[in-house]
Amino acid sequence: MQTALRNATSYSIKPSNLIRCHKGVLSFLHHRDYSTTHEADIVVIGSGPGGYVAAIKAAQLGFKTVCIEKDPTLGGTCLNVGCIPSKALLNNSHFYHMAHSGDLNERGVVCDNVKLDLDKLMGQKTNAVKALTGGIAQLFKKNKVNLISGHGKITGVNQVTALKPDGSSEVVNTKNILIATGSEVTPFPGIEIDEQQIVSSTGALSLKEVPKRMIVIGAGVIGLELGSVWSRLGAEVTAIEFLTSIGGIGIDGEVAKTFQKILTKQGLKFRMGTKVTGAQKTGSTIKVNVEDVKNSDKKEELECEVLLVCVGRRPYTHNLGLEEMGIERDQKGRVPVNSHFQTVIPNIYAIGDCIHGPMLAHKAEDEGIICVEGIKGGPVHIDYNCVPSVIYTHPEVGWVGRSEEDLKSEGIAYKVGKFPFMANSRAKTNNEADGFVKVLADKATDRILGTHIIGPSAGELINEAVLAQEYGASSEDVARVCHAHPTCAEALREANLASYFGKPINF
Ligand SMILES: Cc1cc2nc3c(=O)[nH]c(=O)nc-3n(C[C@H](O)[C@H](O)[C@H](O)COP(=O)(O)OP(=O)(O)OC[C@H]3O[C@@H](n4cnc5c(N)ncnc54)[C@H](O)[C@@H]3O)c2cc1C
Repeated sequence: MQTALRNATSYSIKPSNLIRCHKGVLSFLHHRDYSTTHEADIVVIGSGPGGYVAAIKAAQLGFKTVCIEKDPTLGGTCLNVGCIPSKALLNNSHFYHMAHSGDLNERGVVCDNVKLDLDKLMGQKTNAVKALTGGIAQLFKKNKVNLISGHGKITGVNQVTALKPDGSSEVVNTKNILIATGSEVTPFPGIEIDEQQIVSSTGALSLKEVPKRMIVIGAGVIGLELGSVWSRLGAEVTAIEFLTSIGGIGIDGEVAKTFQKILTKQGLKFRMGTKVTGAQKTGSTIKVNVEDVKNSDKKEELECEVLLVCVGRRPYTHNLGLEEMGIERDQKGRVPVNSHFQTVIPNIYAIGDCIHGPMLAHKAEDEGIICVEGIKGGPVHIDYNCVPSVIYTHPEVGWVGRSEEDLKSEGIAYKVGKFPFMANSRAKTNNEADGFVKVLADKATDRILGTHIIGPSAGELINEAVLAQEYGASSEDVARVCHAHPTCAEALREANLASYFGKPINF
């Protein structure tokens, strides 16, 4: 408190704040007379991929920028308990599986007595996370983003207060506020997550041992990635899925079918059209009650040692001051924004997982950049149809734009160009020839409407398709671009050739 008193400067409440604020906020402000005060052009609340990227861009554009983060490390879900740790485990569990399953032996790389050192595998993941979250702190310094630790609460139209665990606070008076508070795990009604036996994705990234049996509730992107990790490391994994296809929203139906076949061959089990109705812990075992979605008389009790609840994520806007500011959330808990990412209060913006659209790190980043460019006076445009999705299993799945199901339901006439990786020289040489590329183009104009890839490096290849689609390319445009040989990207070219000319060369 002494330090807070020494640093304290008086702060002014602008008349606009008084008009807009709820009574509760005003009394809150009066109780916080003694706090450090800062001035800023933009305050970003949250340092996930949306928030930290927006903060850096804002500073680069010349705005005096503050970023407030409540967690001890920067980077949000993505760097701490999302994209990065999951990809570290996917990568290294794949190497283990290649060695352990005899795949490497078949390639002439003899691996005898292959053992798993789970602590080391987890250690590598932790190091990757540490290096990348620490890197953001360096980038903040380099770009002169002022980082304030604490829980950011909007306490006025032009004010954010960072609440510290010790009861002190720092007040920032600002021209603009950018909410980038992300999302949290959606709980499963009636099943309590302990992060040891019954885990969310967060607990599944740090299990102490490989369970004998794992049940995954939800065969969406995160469930399939983490299910694959533990299956490769030796667990018997069963995914329970309410829907009749895997891979989540937006995946093309044909890709989803192929994907399920490949994962089943790898050892994952699926219970489709099945819902979980409850789970009980009995010692080290968990009994999971399931029933058929179409016939509730068909009930069953399954058992596992670890239950992974992966039914999605929901926006996180806890104690952000939205109610007091009169910013309502929609029925899914998201912060409604217009095409400039403005909430109902024009200088309060929101981006990333806490608003509409797919919950993806690169979508949050792009929104962060164009939102602050818009504040600077630049154009604000994002085509959500050009935001790619990737599932980082083996093989990977990547897509952008519309699926065949979308086009049928929208009544758009389209043509299909397909090319299997079996006929791609690089994939064949590497013995990774499962999957295909499928290009969907407008029947009349040849403009590319969607690209769907299941196969080696699909997560890298999809970016070429994104570029093409973003620039309104036709399938002929891509087919006429010279592609390096031998590369898996040649399969994308051939699929485009099949789309515009009707016939690929190598198949
Ligand atoms: C297991 C897993 C794997 C994933 N893999 C991928 C992937 O491969 N690719 C992909 O694109 N996406 C992936 N995602 C999704 C991705 O992590 C999110 O879409 C992304 O992190 C959203 O970014 P964001 O900035 O909106 O929010 P977040 O990353 O959630 O960051 C929000 C930040 O705000 C902070 N915060 C919240 N409230 C306050 C407050 N009031 N004051 C101060 N700070 C606050 C939080 O502590 C957090 O640091 C994955 C997610 C999970 C769980």
